[in-house]
Amino acid sequence: MLGDTGRKRETTPGVQIRISRLRLYGTRGRAMSRVLIIGAGGVGRVTAHKCARLPELFSDIWLASRTRSKCDQIAAEIGGNRISTAEVDADSVTELVALIRRIAPRLVINLALPYQDLSIMEACLATGVDYLDTANYEPPELAKFEYKWQWAYQERFQAAGIMALLGSGFDPGVTNVFTAYALKHHFDRIDTLDILDCNAGDHGYPFATNFNPEINIREVTANGRYYQEGAWIETQPMEISRLFDFPEIGPRRIYLLYHEELESLARHIPGMRHMRFWMTFGESYLKHLEVIRNLGLDRIEPIEFQGQRIVPLQFLKALLPEPATLGSRTVGKTNIGCLIKGEKGGRPVSRYIYNVCDHQACYRETNAQAISYTTGVPAMIGAKLMLEGCWKRAGVWNMEQFDPDPFMADLNRYGLPWQDITSNVDIP
Ligand code: NDP
Repeated sequence: MLGDTGRKRETTPGVQIRISRLRLYGTRGRAMSRVLIIGAGGVGRVTAHKCARLPELFSDIWLASRTRSKCDQIAAEIGGNRISTAEVDADSVTELVALIRRIAPRLVINLALPYQDLSIMEACLATGVDYLDTANYEPPELAKFEYKWQWAYQERFQAAGIMALLGSGFDPGVTNVFTAYALKHHFDRIDTLDILDCNAGDHGYPFATNFNPEINIREVTANGRYYQEGAWIETQPMEISRLFDFPEIGPRRIYLLYHEELESLARHIPGMRHMRFWMTFGESYLKHLEVIRNLGLDRIEPIEFQGQRIVPLQFLKALLPEPATLGSRTVGKTNIGCLIKGEKGGRPVSRYIYNVCDHQACYRETNAQAISYTTGVPAMIGAKLMLEGCWKRAGVWNMEQFDPDPFMADLNRYGLPWQDITSNVDIP
């Protein structure tokens, strides 16, 4: 087994593992604390930084991705021999199984793309290892969020006695936990939930996306959808917009989108009647997005170009700045929160629970901007709670299905402090 003696370098067809750190561990330490992070983008960088700072829990951290040099760069900036690196194609279950068997982690933290969710879940099943991600599965050829593919693993994960924690980012993730916390502490019944995602950061580019461009553009060009009295109402992309005055940021225009946590919250929060998800966009972003759509550069069906099949959106991604490089340039803040209305003891209650994050503060701490930070920190916290046994149950679970209190406490402790205020604002 790798890491035991520090002498073996095993090779398996299709898997290239190079041991960049060799250390001795006792069996108990290794079993308790070895994690494998897959994906070395903006989010993977933040989670690696945050895990590395908790050696008593994450004593042994592996970072694997398609491009190993990106893992090495993150390992080098963290220093102290805290991160071992490997190369893996996470679309290949065979490669993943071989890698997981050799590293023998306690938990796989999937911070690659949503396309890889199912192959990584399959590999976890084959190896009996727990799983965590931050975004639900999307088939590459279909721009669609749905939990059905991952929820379908429930029985197999239960039978294997392993756990999958789905959506441990900010939205989904912290927004689910905010909702569960509100239900636990403020409400007998929640009637309406508006999830508000404001990024008031400026990176200085006319157009760039704060997380993977392909996933981002698929998300915002899809039809909007909201939940009302048990039914889903579909809207055109960006058809509905309002103004909202964000604490510490000010008034911003918000646009209604569909977002995956609405599906799990509709299923798990009893009595929920009305739910919407809103996101802010700058004028320059929207102008460029319109041109991208008009030109067909957001298309995901392959086209023939000079004898090659290319996907226009993947071609566009290759031209755009990598989100992981935006950190040093991005200034301003994010405010992401849940505006929740309902009643307690027969009286109406209205709360806004939110976090404000400063891009430059995130960059100083982790070399990443706030969108990666607000996703990577909750991924670390979810992993921490699973390793501690605090959130631990065989099967496939969404964040709102666990006690929100320890997660809320860790948000305050590890860089995402939240506010919980009375708010009488109505979004019509
Ligand atoms: P990036 O594009 O910056 O990073 C993705 C990483 O995954 C890259 O290192 C990439 O490798 C790697 N990767 C892609 N395909 C494969 C593959 N087949 N095998 C191995 N590695 C692969 O994305 P982000 O870091 O911004 O986002 C990571 C995840 O976080 C995404 O799933 C995204 O949807 C999710 N997210 C969730 C949010 C939330 O709040 N819940 C918010 C923001 C993001 P390479 O460099 O070689 O391309």
